[in-house]
Amino acid sequence: MAVKVAEEWLNICGGCEVSILDIGEPLLDLLPELEFVHMPVLMDHKYFGQTGENTEMEIPEADVGIISGGVRNEKEKHVAEEMRKKCNTLISLGSCACFGGIPALANMFPLEDLYHKVYKDCKTTDSGETPTENLPPLLDRVYALEEVVPVDINIPGCPTNPDLIVKALSALLTGGSFEIPERSVCDECPLKREKKASGGEIKRTLDSPEFDQSKPWDNTRCFMEQGYLCLGPVTLAGCSNKEGGENGVMVPRCIKGLMPCRGCFGPIRKGANPLVDMMSAISSIGLDAKQVPDRRALLNRYIGGQNRLRPLPARPK
Ligand code: SF4
Ligand code: SF4
Ligand code: SF4
Repeated sequence: MAVKVAEEWLNICGGCEVSILDIGEPLLDLLPELEFVHMPVLMDHKYFGQTGENTEMEIPEADVGIISGGVRNEKEKHVAEEMRKKCNTLISLGSCACFGGIPALANMFPLEDLYHKVYKDCKTTDSGETPTENLPPLLDRVYALEEVVPVDINIPGCPTNPDLIVKALSALLTGGSFEIPERSVCDECPLKREKKASGGEIKRTLDSPEFDQSKPWDNTRCFMEQGYLCLGPVTLAGCSNKEGGENGVMVPRCIKGLMPCRGCFGPIRKGANPLVDMMSAISSIGLDAKQVPDRRALLNRYIGGQNRLRPLPARPK
Protein backbone atom coordinates (compact mmCIF):
# COMPACT_ATOMS: atom_id res chain seq x y z
CA MET A 1 0.00 0.00 0.00
CA ALA A 2 1.31 3.47 -0.92
CA VAL A 3 2.55 5.77 1.85
CA LYS A 4 0.27 8.79 2.19
CA VAL A 5 2.08 12.13 2.10
CA ALA A 6 0.72 15.58 2.98
CA GLU A 7 2.80 18.67 2.15
CA GLU A 8 2.23 22.22 3.40
CA TRP A 9 3.97 25.54 2.93
CA LEU A 10 3.88 28.21 5.60
CA ASN A 11 6.11 31.33 5.65
CA ILE A 12 7.98 30.50 2.44
CA CYS A 13 9.32 31.60 -0.94
CA GLY A 14 8.39 28.33 -2.72
CA GLY A 15 12.02 27.27 -3.33
CA CYS A 16 11.67 24.24 -1.05
CA GLU A 17 8.83 22.90 -3.21
CA VAL A 18 11.07 23.38 -6.25
CA SER A 19 13.72 21.29 -4.47
CA ILE A 20 11.16 18.43 -4.32
CA LEU A 21 10.68 18.70 -8.10
CA ASP A 22 14.45 19.00 -8.44
CA ILE A 23 14.80 15.41 -7.22
CA GLY A 24 14.53 14.54 -10.91
CA GLU A 25 14.59 10.92 -12.02
CA PRO A 26 14.78 9.33 -8.53
CA LEU A 27 11.37 10.94 -7.90
CA LEU A 28 9.95 8.67 -10.63
CA ASP A 29 11.18 5.62 -8.66
CA LEU A 30 9.63 6.95 -5.45
CA LEU A 31 6.27 8.08 -6.86
CA PRO A 32 4.64 4.61 -7.18
CA GLU A 33 5.25 4.15 -3.44
CA LEU A 34 3.78 7.53 -2.47
CA GLU A 35 0.28 8.93 -2.55
CA PHE A 36 0.13 12.71 -2.18
CA VAL A 37 -3.14 13.41 -0.35
CA HIS A 38 -2.61 17.13 0.25
CA MET A 39 -0.21 19.60 -1.36
CA PRO A 40 -1.42 23.17 -1.94
CA VAL A 41 1.35 23.89 -4.46
CA LEU A 42 -0.07 21.15 -6.73
CA MET A 43 -3.66 20.58 -5.64
CA ASP A 44 -6.59 22.92 -5.24
CA HIS A 45 -7.52 21.63 -1.80
CA LYS A 46 -9.28 24.22 0.36
CA TYR A 47 -8.89 24.17 4.13
CA PHE A 48 -12.59 24.72 4.92
CA GLY A 49 -14.28 22.80 2.08
CA GLN A 50 -14.24 23.71 -1.62
CA THR A 51 -16.78 26.51 -1.09
CA GLY A 52 -15.77 27.47 2.44
CA GLU A 53 -18.79 25.63 3.89
CA ASN A 54 -16.94 23.96 6.80
CA THR A 55 -15.92 25.39 10.14
CA GLU A 56 -13.14 22.89 10.93
CA MET A 57 -9.83 22.86 9.01
CA GLU A 58 -9.68 19.83 6.71
CA ILE A 59 -6.26 18.28 6.20
CA PRO A 60 -6.42 14.56 5.38
CA GLU A 61 -4.61 12.01 7.55
CA ALA A 62 -1.19 11.00 6.22
CA ASP A 63 1.72 8.74 7.12
CA VAL A 64 4.25 11.47 6.37
CA GLY A 65 3.81 15.23 6.60
CA ILE A 66 6.29 17.64 5.02
CA ILE A 67 6.22 21.30 6.01
CA SER A 68 8.31 24.07 4.47
CA GLY A 69 8.46 27.55 5.98
CA GLY A 70 8.56 28.94 9.47
CA VAL A 71 5.54 30.17 11.42
CA ARG A 72 4.81 33.90 11.11
CA ASN A 73 1.06 34.23 11.71
CA GLU A 74 -1.93 32.63 13.45
CA LYS A 75 -3.10 30.86 10.28
CA GLU A 76 0.30 29.20 9.77
CA LYS A 77 0.31 28.14 13.43
CA HIS A 78 -3.15 26.57 13.00
CA VAL A 79 -2.03 24.73 9.82
CA ALA A 80 1.15 23.48 11.55
CA GLU A 81 -0.89 22.17 14.50
CA GLU A 82 -3.41 20.49 12.19
CA MET A 83 -0.60 18.86 10.16
CA ARG A 84 0.95 17.56 13.38
CA LYS A 85 -2.41 16.06 14.41
CA LYS A 86 -2.94 14.38 11.05
CA CYS A 87 0.57 13.10 10.19
CA ASN A 88 2.39 10.23 11.90
CA THR A 89 5.85 11.51 10.97
CA LEU A 90 6.52 15.19 10.44
CA ILE A 91 9.43 16.49 8.33
CA SER A 92 10.62 20.08 8.61
CA LEU A 93 11.87 20.94 5.09
CA GLY A 94 14.30 23.78 4.48
CA SER A 95 15.92 26.37 6.69
CA CYS A 96 12.79 28.51 7.06
CA ALA A 97 11.04 25.54 8.68
CA CYS A 98 14.11 24.37 10.62
CA PHE A 99 15.35 27.76 11.89
CA GLY A 100 13.04 30.57 10.66
CA GLY A 101 15.26 31.20 7.61
CA ILE A 102 15.69 34.55 5.88
CA PRO A 103 12.24 35.84 7.02
CA ALA A 104 13.42 35.52 10.64
CA LEU A 105 15.86 38.40 10.04
CA ALA A 106 12.73 40.41 10.89
CA ASN A 107 13.07 39.09 14.45
CA MET A 108 15.71 41.77 15.00
CA PHE A 109 12.91 44.37 15.09
CA PRO A 110 9.81 44.80 17.29
CA LEU A 111 6.55 44.00 15.50
CA GLU A 112 5.33 47.62 15.74
CA ASP A 113 8.48 48.80 13.92
CA LEU A 114 7.84 46.31 11.11
CA TYR A 115 4.24 47.46 10.68
CA HIS A 116 5.40 51.07 10.71
CA LYS A 117 8.11 50.41 8.12
CA VAL A 118 5.79 48.55 5.74
CA TYR A 119 2.59 50.60 5.98
CA LYS A 120 3.71 54.07 7.01
CA ASP A 121 7.36 54.58 6.10
CA CYS A 122 7.78 52.76 2.80
CA LYS A 123 9.56 54.85 0.17
CA THR A 124 7.61 53.45 -2.79
CA THR A 125 4.00 53.46 -1.53
CA ASP A 126 1.69 55.97 0.12
CA SER A 127 1.47 55.85 3.87
CA GLY A 128 -1.70 54.07 5.10
CA GLU A 129 -3.34 52.30 7.99
CA THR A 130 -2.14 48.88 9.11
CA PRO A 131 -4.76 46.45 7.72
CA THR A 132 -6.60 44.44 10.35
CA GLU A 133 -9.58 42.87 8.53
CA ASN A 134 -9.55 39.48 6.78
CA LEU A 135 -5.87 38.93 7.54
CA PRO A 136 -4.44 36.46 10.04
CA PRO A 137 -2.70 38.38 12.84
CA LEU A 138 1.10 38.15 12.88
CA LEU A 139 2.74 36.36 15.80
CA ASP A 140 5.21 38.39 17.88
CA ARG A 141 8.11 36.96 15.81
CA VAL A 142 8.98 34.28 13.21
CA TYR A 143 9.11 30.82 14.82
CA ALA A 144 10.92 27.71 13.61
CA LEU A 145 8.44 24.86 13.13
CA GLU A 146 9.78 22.84 16.06
CA GLU A 147 9.08 25.76 18.40
CA VAL A 148 5.38 25.34 17.59
CA VAL A 149 4.89 21.55 17.14
CA PRO A 150 7.15 18.51 17.67
CA VAL A 151 9.13 17.62 14.55
CA ASP A 152 10.56 14.16 13.74
CA ILE A 153 13.05 14.94 10.94
CA ASN A 154 14.84 18.19 10.10
CA ILE A 155 16.16 18.67 6.55
CA PRO A 156 17.79 22.13 6.48
CA GLY A 157 19.10 24.15 3.54
CA CYS A 158 17.87 27.13 1.53
CA PRO A 159 16.71 25.27 -0.39
CA THR A 160 17.85 21.84 0.68
CA ASN A 161 19.75 19.29 -1.38
CA PRO A 162 17.14 17.14 -3.22
CA ASP A 163 19.29 14.05 -2.46
CA LEU A 164 18.51 14.53 1.24
CA ILE A 165 14.77 14.48 0.55
CA VAL A 166 15.20 11.19 -1.34
CA LYS A 167 17.28 9.73 1.52
CA ALA A 168 14.71 10.78 4.13
CA LEU A 169 11.73 9.43 2.16
CA SER A 170 13.57 6.19 1.29
CA ALA A 171 14.44 5.69 4.97
CA LEU A 172 10.79 6.15 5.94
CA LEU A 173 9.65 3.74 3.19
CA THR A 174 12.08 1.02 4.28
CA GLY A 175 11.77 1.57 8.03
CA GLY A 176 15.37 2.86 8.25
CA SER A 177 16.62 5.96 10.00
CA PHE A 178 17.66 9.30 8.57
CA GLU A 179 20.14 11.76 9.97
CA ILE A 180 22.67 14.18 8.55
CA PRO A 181 26.17 13.48 9.93
CA GLU A 182 27.65 16.25 12.09
CA ARG A 183 30.27 17.50 9.64
CA SER A 184 31.06 21.02 8.51
CA VAL A 185 30.95 22.40 4.96
CA CYS A 186 34.76 22.78 5.28
CA ASP A 187 34.98 19.00 5.85
CA GLU A 188 33.61 18.53 2.33
CA CYS A 189 35.36 21.46 0.65
CA PRO A 190 38.25 20.66 -1.69
CA LEU A 191 39.80 24.15 -1.65
CA LYS A 192 43.39 24.39 -0.38
CA ARG A 193 43.97 25.49 3.22
CA GLU A 194 47.22 26.74 4.71
CA LYS A 195 45.62 27.75 8.07
CA LYS A 196 46.70 31.34 7.59
CA ALA A 197 45.04 34.25 5.75
CA SER A 198 46.96 35.63 2.77
CA GLY A 199 46.27 39.25 3.86
CA GLY A 200 44.89 41.10 6.88
CA GLU A 201 41.68 42.51 5.40
CA ILE A 202 38.17 41.05 5.20
CA LYS A 203 37.01 41.77 1.66
CA ARG A 204 33.60 42.58 0.20
CA THR A 205 31.73 39.42 -0.84
CA LEU A 206 30.81 41.10 -4.13
CA ASP A 207 34.47 41.08 -5.17
CA SER A 208 35.56 37.88 -6.84
CA PRO A 209 37.95 35.45 -5.11
CA GLU A 210 40.95 34.25 -7.10
CA PHE A 211 40.53 30.82 -8.63
CA ASP A 212 42.09 28.58 -11.26
CA GLN A 213 39.42 28.08 -13.88
CA SER A 214 41.11 25.06 -15.48
CA LYS A 215 41.49 23.07 -12.24
CA PRO A 216 39.42 24.91 -9.63
CA TRP A 217 39.44 22.08 -7.04
CA ASP A 218 43.17 21.43 -7.31
CA ASN A 219 44.57 24.94 -7.25
CA THR A 220 42.14 27.35 -5.60
CA ARG A 221 42.92 28.71 -2.14
CA CYS A 222 40.26 28.62 0.62
CA PHE A 223 38.04 31.68 0.21
CA MET A 224 38.29 32.62 3.86
CA GLU A 225 42.07 32.51 3.72
CA GLN A 226 41.73 34.87 0.73
CA GLY A 227 39.85 37.23 3.07
CA TYR A 228 36.22 36.48 2.10
CA LEU A 229 33.71 35.70 4.81
CA CYS A 230 32.84 32.01 4.33
CA LEU A 231 30.63 30.28 6.91
CA GLY A 232 31.89 26.79 5.99
CA PRO A 233 33.61 26.21 9.36
CA VAL A 234 30.35 26.58 11.35
CA THR A 235 27.79 25.22 8.87
CA LEU A 236 26.37 21.71 8.63
CA ALA A 237 27.49 19.81 5.51
CA GLY A 238 24.80 18.32 3.28
CA CYS A 239 24.64 20.51 0.19
CA SER A 240 27.64 18.89 -1.57
CA ASN A 241 27.40 16.85 -4.73
CA LYS A 242 30.03 14.92 -6.65
CA GLU A 243 31.79 16.82 -9.40
CA GLY A 244 33.17 14.97 -12.42
CA GLY A 245 31.36 11.63 -12.20
CA GLU A 246 31.32 8.71 -9.77
CA ASN A 247 34.95 9.10 -8.69
CA GLY A 248 34.84 12.88 -8.55
CA VAL A 249 35.34 15.07 -5.49
CA MET A 250 32.52 16.27 -3.27
CA VAL A 251 32.01 20.02 -3.67
CA PRO A 252 29.63 22.14 -1.56
CA ARG A 253 27.01 23.95 -3.63
CA CYS A 254 28.21 27.57 -3.29
CA ILE A 255 31.87 26.60 -3.54
CA LYS A 256 30.99 24.96 -6.86
CA GLY A 257 29.75 28.38 -7.97
CA LEU A 258 33.03 29.88 -6.63
CA MET A 259 31.12 31.72 -3.92
CA PRO A 260 31.73 31.52 -0.15
CA CYS A 261 29.24 29.58 2.00
CA ARG A 262 26.53 31.79 3.56
CA GLY A 263 25.54 29.26 6.21
CA CYS A 264 22.17 28.14 4.85
CA PHE A 265 22.30 24.62 6.36
CA GLY A 266 22.52 26.09 9.86
CA PRO A 267 24.71 25.02 12.78
CA ILE A 268 26.63 21.75 12.76
CA ARG A 269 25.27 20.73 16.15
CA LYS A 270 21.92 21.58 17.68
CA GLY A 271 22.42 24.38 20.16
CA ALA A 272 25.78 25.52 18.72
CA ASN A 273 26.40 29.27 18.49
CA PRO A 274 27.69 29.95 14.96
CA LEU A 275 28.30 33.62 15.74
CA VAL A 276 30.79 32.84 18.50
CA ASP A 277 32.32 29.87 16.63
CA MET A 278 32.73 31.92 13.46
CA MET A 279 34.41 34.81 15.27
CA SER A 280 36.93 32.35 16.61
CA ALA A 281 37.42 30.70 13.17
CA ILE A 282 38.08 34.11 11.61
CA SER A 283 40.60 35.06 14.32
CA SER A 284 42.36 31.68 14.16
CA ILE A 285 43.66 32.39 10.63
CA GLY A 286 44.84 35.89 11.51
CA LEU A 287 41.89 38.02 10.32
CA ASP A 288 40.31 40.70 12.49
CA ALA A 289 36.78 39.46 13.29
CA LYS A 290 35.75 43.01 14.25
CA GLN A 291 35.95 43.96 10.56
CA VAL A 292 32.84 41.85 9.81
CA PRO A 293 29.98 44.34 9.43
CA ASP A 294 26.59 43.65 11.05
CA ARG A 295 27.86 40.39 12.56
CA ARG A 296 24.61 39.41 14.26
CA ALA A 297 22.60 39.41 11.05
CA LEU A 298 25.33 38.10 8.73
CA LEU A 299 26.34 35.14 10.88
CA ASN A 300 22.76 34.22 11.88
CA ARG A 301 21.30 35.01 8.49
CA TYR A 302 19.26 31.80 8.15
CA ILE A 303 18.74 30.91 11.81
CA GLY A 304 16.95 33.82 13.46
CA GLY A 305 14.15 31.64 14.93
CA GLN A 306 14.69 29.82 18.25
CA ASN A 307 15.43 33.27 19.73
CA ARG A 308 18.81 33.60 18.00
CA LEU A 309 17.81 37.00 16.64
CA ARG A 310 15.79 39.43 18.73
CA PRO A 311 15.47 43.19 19.07
CA LEU A 312 18.37 44.79 20.91
CA PRO A 313 17.44 46.67 24.06
CA ALA A 314 17.13 50.42 23.42
CA ARG A 315 20.33 52.34 24.21
CA PRO A 316 20.07 54.77 27.13
CA LYS A 317 19.73 58.36 25.84
S1 SF4 B 1 14.35 27.64 3.07
FE1 SF4 B 1 14.94 28.98 1.39
S2 SF4 B 1 14.08 27.97 -0.41
FE2 SF4 B 1 13.02 27.12 1.37
S3 SF4 B 1 11.19 28.40 1.64
FE3 SF4 B 1 12.82 29.26 2.92
S4 SF4 B 1 13.72 30.87 1.63
FE4 SF4 B 1 12.58 29.50 0.28
S1 SF4 C 1 36.20 28.31 4.77
FE1 SF4 C 1 34.94 28.08 2.93
S2 SF4 C 1 36.37 28.03 1.22
FE2 SF4 C 1 37.54 27.63 3.09
S3 SF4 C 1 37.59 25.42 3.27
FE3 SF4 C 1 35.83 26.13 4.46
S4 SF4 C 1 34.12 26.03 3.03
FE4 SF4 C 1 35.98 25.91 1.81
S1 SF4 D 1 27.74 26.15 0.62
FE1 SF4 D 1 26.76 26.96 2.46
S2 SF4 D 1 25.27 28.50 1.78
FE2 SF4 D 1 25.88 27.27 -0.01
S3 SF4 D 1 24.32 25.70 -0.14
FE3 SF4 D 1 26.01 24.85 1.07
S4 SF4 D 1 25.47 25.29 3.23
FE4 SF4 D 1 24.19 26.56 1.91
